[in-house]
Amino acid sequence: MATFKELGVSKAICESLEEMGIVKPTEIQESAIPILLQGKTDFVGQAQTGTGKTAAFGIPALLAVDPMLKHTQVLILSPTRELGQQIGKQLFKYTKHCNQKIFIEVVFGGAHIGQQMERLRRPTHVIVATPGRLMDLLERKAIDLSKIKVLILDEADEMLRMGFRQDVDKILLQTDGARNTWLFSATMPENVLEMVKMYISADAPKVQVAAKKVINKNIEHQFLVCTIEEKVRLVYQFLRDQGKARGVIFCKTKAGAQKLVDQIKAADFSVDTIHGDLTQKERDKALRAFRNKTIQVLVATDVAARGIDVEDIAYVLHYQLPEELENYTHRSGRTARAGRRGLSVVLALVTEMPKIKKIEEQLGISFQKLKR
Ligand code: AMP
Repeated sequence: MATFKELGVSKAICESLEEMGIVKPTEIQESAIPILLQGKTDFVGQAQTGTGKTAAFGIPALLAVDPMLKHTQVLILSPTRELGQQIGKQLFKYTKHCNQKIFIEVVFGGAHIGQQMERLRRPTHVIVATPGRLMDLLERKAIDLSKIKVLILDEADEMLRMGFRQDVDKILLQTDGARNTWLFSATMPENVLEMVKMYISADAPKVQVAAKKVINKNIEHQFLVCTIEEKVRLVYQFLRDQGKARGVIFCKTKAGAQKLVDQIKAADFSVDTIHGDLTQKERDKALRAFRNKTIQVLVATDVAARGIDVEDIAYVLHYQLPEELENYTHRSGRTARAGRRGLSVVLALVTEMPKIKKIEEQLGISFQKLKR
């Protein structure tokens, strides 16, 4: 598994990424960044929001900029104001440690055009724009795109769905020249393929990532350092703090899960368990009770947990860390389903700190350390 440095990302940007908790490249980043850093190529990426596509094109775009020159070198087209602002914000953060400032402006419709024109009088290396407002600014000669090196179309399918085809066509024709075009789209319907044919060179690399590779940003990861003896008491306290919220507690072994469920029951919490020593019937019964909210907490082992697909799980508590790293993803993925937010908390022993670090590195997440 490559690091951002190995993909060719500059030290300064790697430093900013690290501060943002971005340490492990996602699939689209791993494929796109090395290609785009070589420059002089068109590109087609099929990836949806949440796959890390902004960094996949944003980092190479920033590295294509020569900050010593004052003119606009990169144009990013976005279908909506919100997406444009998000892109602008991310790019700005990536440049935090760059020696020379890279100036980025975001322009969109519905806001005061005079103010945007004023801002664009200053040197602007990267412009992020919605197509309609960009046309307006071009007509008013507030923007000069004659020397751009890279033009990025983000969410091309969405742009066409919103009726920007004509504007996009005009912009692409006006900026025709030495620039390269990178097109990103979640889907590839006929009208997007048509654009690819018209504006992207036939030999351009094409990369596609599966929808399931989306990073679940809605999960907050935390750990609490404790001893084995303290764990049960901490579980009680955690459950009390959670109030009516429902969640799953993971144990490493069947015996451990059974012991813990008995202890939690004794403290009057509404709880049941699913683990491998129970019959299928018993497991189904527990899961049904959890699903229809008869019980509030489910204690589970990794293998038995595969079938837990319940939408409103607010938290996952790791009574012990799993043996396999993959199971951490699997466990924490029980929460934050269907766009909700979720919490994943680990009761960790001091000796397990290297393991926490490894999870952070390999899964590209960062843990918050809870104070006691
Ligand atoms: P995007 O798909 O570009 O909209 O990115 C989705 C979210 O994932 C953003 O909040 C990014 O900050 C975050 N992100 C991007 N790349 C990574 C990565 N390699 N590891 C963890 N988070 C990332």
